[in-house]
Amino acid sequence: MTSLPLSVVIPCYNEEACLEELHARVSRAAQAVSPAGYEIVLVNDGSRDSSWEMMQKLSARDPHVVAINLSRNHGHQLALTAGLDLCSGDRILIIDADLQDPPELLPAMMAEMDRQKADVVYGLRRARAGETAFKRATAKMFYRGLSKLSDIEIPRDVGDFRLMSRRALDALLSLP
Ligand code: UDP
Ligand code: MG
Repeated sequence: MTSLPLSVVIPCYNEEACLEELHARVSRAAQAVSPAGYEIVLVNDGSRDSSWEMMQKLSARDPHVVAINLSRNHGHQLALTAGLDLCSGDRILIIDADLQDPPELLPAMMAEMDRQKADVVYGLRRARAGETAFKRATAKMFYRGLSKLSDIEIPRDVGDFRLMSRRALDALLSLP
């Protein structure tokens, strides 16, 4: 498989309202850090809206876009794994489609990976914009429970938004 400097992998479920802006903003960020080449891997996780039609149009218009269609809804993590399995970047940015995490942080995340020779650079949520008090409370409980269960320190309020090295991704993908 030929490798690219950068893959951006995005699981999508009913994201028709976000896809245009997502594509524009992710493209700008990817172009800025990786003008030599990148791919934007959009995984349609059995959306019931027009997400898949929009993805096909984006991929027809922009050769950087790889659109993947799952047979039905498999859930966020499986959709993400499908995209990670198929991507070919030396570095991989994972981001949600809903733009709660800003793709504009990519240059800073790249610089941090270079500077610290890190395998993973996490984005940390400073505020949970647009989330209900219930969601914030359950998220807090989740991260508390998670840290009790684990001997390893797991950063709180860290979602999937992260930049990974190929080395880290291959280690992740080697797990059953
Ligand atoms: N998603 C998905 N399959 C699902 C549910 C969500 O692929 O069954 C995608 C969704 O489109 C988004 C990401 O996974 O890009 C995170 O979903 P959401 O924003 O609903 O999760 P939260 O922000 O609550 O963690
Ligand atoms: Mg979200």
